[in-house]
Amino acid sequence: MTSKLKKILLIGNSTEIKILIELMSDSYDFIQANSTDELLQNWNSIFKEVNAVIMDSEQATLNNYTFLKQSVQNGRFAFIPLLIIAGSPQNDAELKCLDYNAVDFITMPFQKVTVKNRIENAIHIKDSASFYEIERMLKELPSNIYLKDANGRYIFATHYWHHLDHSSDPDWTIRGKTDLDIRKDRENAKIAMEKDMEVVRTGKGDNYIIEINVDNIQEYFEVFKEPIKDQNGNITGIIGLLNNVTEHERLKRQLKNAAIIDGLTGLYNRKEIQNRIDDAVEGYRKNGGIFSVIMLDIDNFKHVNDCYGHQQGDVVIVTLSDILKNNQPSFKGKFSAGRWGGEEFMLLLHDTEITAAAYIAEFLRQCFANTAFPNMRSQTISLGVTQVKPDDTSDSLCIRVDGGLYQAKKTGKNRVCIV
Ligand code: GH3
Ligand code: MG
Ligand code: MG
Repeated sequence: MTSKLKKILLIGNSTEIKILIELMSDSYDFIQANSTDELLQNWNSIFKEVNAVIMDSEQATLNNYTFLKQSVQNGRFAFIPLLIIAGSPQNDAELKCLDYNAVDFITMPFQKVTVKNRIENAIHIKDSASFYEIERMLKELPSNIYLKDANGRYIFATHYWHHLDHSSDPDWTIRGKTDLDIRKDRENAKIAMEKDMEVVRTGKGDNYIIEINVDNIQEYFEVFKEPIKDQNGNITGIIGLLNNVTEHERLKRQLKNAAIIDGLTGLYNRKEIQNRIDDAVEGYRKNGGIFSVIMLDIDNFKHVNDCYGHQQGDVVIVTLSDILKNNQPSFKGKFSAGRWGGEEFMLLLHDTEITAAAYIAEFLRQCFANTAFPNMRSQTISLGVTQVKPDDTSDSLCIRVDGGLYQAKKTGKNRVCIV
């Protein structure tokens, strides 16, 4: 079976062209255009079919290289090699043609083997050159695309972003460097290295999101990594894609937050604090430990609404919430606070026994009672406190602490009741 010959377009009708056809027609499938105009008319089909274009120097130099100059501008020969042939050496023309993106300038006498090698090289150069062309084009995308070798050393990256500690020297290159060498975000650099080695070791791709805090900018990037393999299936490196997903990630986090945070108070909503209590009970049943809960409710709150209006009522609720929030650090951030209902709140106190929980409850009671409101008398809360017990379910725990709160209300309000 004979393999299909490469197709080469010849432009011009000089002696050199005729000699070339005679010499090489068993090696290539030649098609011929008499002029560059003819070439341009059929460019679309030529572009698809032709492996190389060979032009005689008469056509190339015509009108002060007009055609070549235009070709440089519109990148016509970015992917197809253009070779020039001439009857005799012409130094100036050769320099100009090469300058205008011709890849070779071959002069007579033609040696069949040499010419064939030079044509093949030209085709090959364009194939490899397309790697650089592609790299250049990839830079136009907002994504960072990079290649690394199997040791995590960059071969290239399309973008040198600000989180790289790179020199402003225009000749600086990422080539040969690892993330550990060049990233300002040291933690992410370590993760990147580990993940790279994992991809190389397992041959499995990876996809994850990283947060970058560099130069006072908080950004999120989604990373895709895939192994690259040679013809024998050996992993030779990694190809990676980095997308800046900051907007998307912020929105996602906002949405996630909105699903668990109460709008008025900024505390956890009922569902979230309930989930956290469920988890705490489950953890306690599995691993032991201890925790407590506090349920609290504003006293005579209907009166606040009735006398001062709903808006003023909201101020009281928010003020109490702020006290719950602001006192968390004093208790070593040990509690999660949630809005259980209208003006009723639930606190989950991790690693806290009943005595400490009762102390916190009393502290909060006093704190709120001593809070002054403009144009309004001070307000109070009642609190129930309990500690988890061996047979507790989430329900039994909540019912018990609710009972404590009820008792505090029943016995005069503005007090803590331990159950
Ligand atoms: P008690 O001391 O027994 O708790 O009496 P209370 O008047 O506080 O009674 P209760 O706790 O049952 O009253 C809750 C009131 O809170 C009823 C409701 O109108 C009001 N409320 C619920 N949510 C809000 C809110 O978001 N803003 C305001 N301003 N009022 C609310
Ligand atoms: Mg109340
Ligand atoms: Mg209530």
